[in-house]
Amino acid sequence: MKYETVIGLEIHAELCTETKIFCGCTTAFGGDENTHCCPICLGLPGVLPVLNGKVVEYAVKAGISTNCSIAEFSKLDRKNYFYPDLPKAYQVSQYDLPICSRGYIEIDTQDGPKKIGITRIHIEEDAGKLLHDTDDGSTLIDYNRCGVPLIEIVSEPDMRSAEEARAYAEKIKSILEYIGVSDCKMQEGSLRFDVNLSVRPAGTTTLGTRTEMKNLNSFKALVNAIENEKARQIELIESGGEVVQETRKWDDIRGINTSLRSKEEAHDYRYFPEPDLVPVVLERDYVEGLKSELPELPYVKLERYIREYGLPEYDAGVITASLPMALFFEECAGIYSGEPKTVSNWVMGELLRILNEKGMEPAQIPFPAKHLAALLELVDKGTISGSAAKKVFTEMFETGEEPEVLVKSLGLLQINDENELKAVIQAILYANPQSVEDYKAGKEKALGFLVGQTMKETRGKANPQVVNKLLKELLGK
Ligand code: ADP
Ligand code: MG
Ligand code: ZN
Repeated sequence: MKYETVIGLEIHAELCTETKIFCGCTTAFGGDENTHCCPICLGLPGVLPVLNGKVVEYAVKAGISTNCSIAEFSKLDRKNYFYPDLPKAYQVSQYDLPICSRGYIEIDTQDGPKKIGITRIHIEEDAGKLLHDTDDGSTLIDYNRCGVPLIEIVSEPDMRSAEEARAYAEKIKSILEYIGVSDCKMQEGSLRFDVNLSVRPAGTTTLGTRTEMKNLNSFKALVNAIENEKARQIELIESGGEVVQETRKWDDIRGINTSLRSKEEAHDYRYFPEPDLVPVVLERDYVEGLKSELPELPYVKLERYIREYGLPEYDAGVITASLPMALFFEECAGIYSGEPKTVSNWVMGELLRILNEKGMEPAQIPFPAKHLAALLELVDKGTISGSAAKKVFTEMFETGEEPEVLVKSLGLLQINDENELKAVIQAILYANPQSVEDYKAGKEKALGFLVGQTMKETRGKANPQVVNKLLKELLGK
């Protein structure tokens, strides 16, 4: 039997406001444990939360950019559960009246563009962090992250494969980065994915029983978790078993998929309206004002790259997918005197290759755009060859050093000096009399061989154009 996979994603994004959602504590990542806290975010008795206006603004911007309706009236609710990382024993979230709902985004698939529905976007607070790996086996708690604002973006179960889920998650990340509401640093937990997945016989329309895997924090983990869980469910059904609705844990390092607990239902949380906060009432002018503040979104930038820089659509799509990548490209193309396509080739080639190899994000590019521009100028001026430039590039990525400095320290200066090259070539001609004769007898191929020998002798540093020219001169005599 053939199966169809059905996937819905819940995406948590930490908002990059300066202060927390209900108090003035900093949201800065890290810091000494329990130093970014106050009585409000620790939930001490008698304190009163005040909603941070920026949180509303950022959530609304996320909603507008994903084609959602923005609620004129919404409210916050308490979601009650006990866990040591949640000192209040409830999380302030939104239950029945989220701030944004009924949106969609479009992703590219093999069969063309596809709309993925967004059920809702709501605002809530993050919890603290438990540190389990202490020497004595005890658990420590860091409350710095308590009260950092989040939006949760809940999709419709519209995705049918790991590729679609990845494309959707990447698009959401790129939109949030563009509108500047989250730094989306997955290595710091600013963007986390929960996968809901079920399978059903291909061609049927009722939804199968789903499982949920929480807190995946890389695209790789997302894809691996989906592939693994899909295979597990199909195998279970094929062997006569039944999928149970539960929360499972995907350990991406060990590749292990285990059951955590049976799925909790909404009524388990005893939701009720947060009595310490007033409802959020938004006027039309406020929402319209935010709409007009939104920057160029990824697909608009893409069109501009084609128009303004003359890039092929493919290049423009790859580069604009990530804002840090796009900004790096724009800065480099602005300084470099050559063609933007050359910059694009290097960004999509060498740069993406090394980033992928190292599992790094474009936001972590360890050297400034002007270094790449300077490197490309060195190639254009003939100071170094194209292949030497690749070596410099790799080294630049490791050290962040300027290309001019690296060219010297790596001994990669291209030999353009005609007298120096003439001496080398004369020796080569002397050592290869047969090729000289062949060339003079009209065999053009012999020239290629002699160029090759010269390049070999200079360990690739000779300027091939100059070598070609000199060889013809010397052989003509
Ligand atoms: P909860 O908050 O309890 O996890 P929701 O009803 O908000 O539940 O749904 C969470 C996610 O699960 C949504 O993204 C939704 O699209 C997805 N989903 C719901 N039912 C299924 C299903 N049968 N198969 C796959 N995904 C599902
Ligand atoms: Mg869920
Ligand atoms: Zn605080």
